[in-house]
Amino acid sequence: MLARDVLKILDAGAASFSRLSPARISRVVSYSRNIFIPLTNACRNACAYCGFRSEKPYLMQEEEVLRLLRAGAELRCREALFTFGERPEVYPEIERALAKMGYASVVEYLYHLCERALKLGLLPHSNPGVVGYEELRSLREVNASMGLMLENASERLCGRGMPHEHSPGKRPRERLRMIASAGKLRIPFTTGLLIGIGETSKEIAESLLALKRLSDRYGHIQEVIIQNFKPKKGTPMEHSPEPSLFRILKVVRAAAELFREQGVQVPPNLNQRTYAIFLLHGANDLGGVSPLTKDYINPEDAWPREREMRLLVEEMGLTLRQRLPIYPEYVKKGWYSERVGEVISQTATRDGYARE
Ligand code: SF4
Repeated sequence: MLARDVLKILDAGAASFSRLSPARISRVVSYSRNIFIPLTNACRNACAYCGFRSEKPYLMQEEEVLRLLRAGAELRCREALFTFGERPEVYPEIERALAKMGYASVVEYLYHLCERALKLGLLPHSNPGVVGYEELRSLREVNASMGLMLENASERLCGRGMPHEHSPGKRPRERLRMIASAGKLRIPFTTGLLIGIGETSKEIAESLLALKRLSDRYGHIQEVIIQNFKPKKGTPMEHSPEPSLFRILKVVRAAAELFREQGVQVPPNLNQRTYAIFLLHGANDLGGVSPLTKDYINPEDAWPREREMRLLVEEMGLTLRQRLPIYPEYVKKGWYSERVGEVISQTATRDGYARE
């Protein structure tokens, strides 16, 4: 598919959109029951839409993390999702807190917590922001999959007055480099775009195609998230408009055309009343949904209950299925370390999803 074909979808009006050939409708809609662990809200970046980062940052202590992991294991969560600000050590108080626990970096601390998660039978999926090749290599040993949103491949969005002006870690080149490194290391990977932060259709098309090229080259991209921007109070983009439903619909459609073998995910908590529509236009995954923890990045948007999701998906004649953070294809291909493999095997024996 060429850029002009993607653009044709992104710029379609109602009439031309309705003339597109029918979208794929996946018989199975997947989601991952997880426990969300926001290790720290310190971040070296300052994205104009972020309501998560704080100038008075915290770092979760090991006991606090363990409490969540144990509670998650009891609720039969299969994924421990570690999501936090990028390179938080730039804050001296975080650096000191890490040093007090005996860690030189947040990645070292994360490694240790992932080991604890594995011992409790949970599969870690870490979103550590931009990290180096060797850090990724070490995290692979204790993660079933990892993730980094590309957000957008446009350097323009990092320019003066733009949402990523003060976010060195959001430079597309940096992000694409890390996604490529994950491919070289055979890490099943989740990435995606953030829609509605001032990007053009052409920039969305180029971003999707940049991910597609990496996916074709390394075969490691297991899912692409299409996330809609939601304004947060007290941020520079507080009064920016949200993207329209039709806009998101077209991006989902374009992603589904490009990523036919992969998951296309829409977060159901950010699209409570509309996610069924995306399932009719190529989306086939609802991402991580937690029975215990909130979405700390979007705390005002509660996860739907699994029962509600199931009722809706079944009403559509589809099947809702819990999955692991690593997609079944990568389990079959053996893209995991020995330690992660042990937990996958235990889980497969217990539940039967991993090897389907
Ligand atoms: S990288 Fe993430 S946590 Fe950091 S400022 Fe941007 S949106 Fe917030």
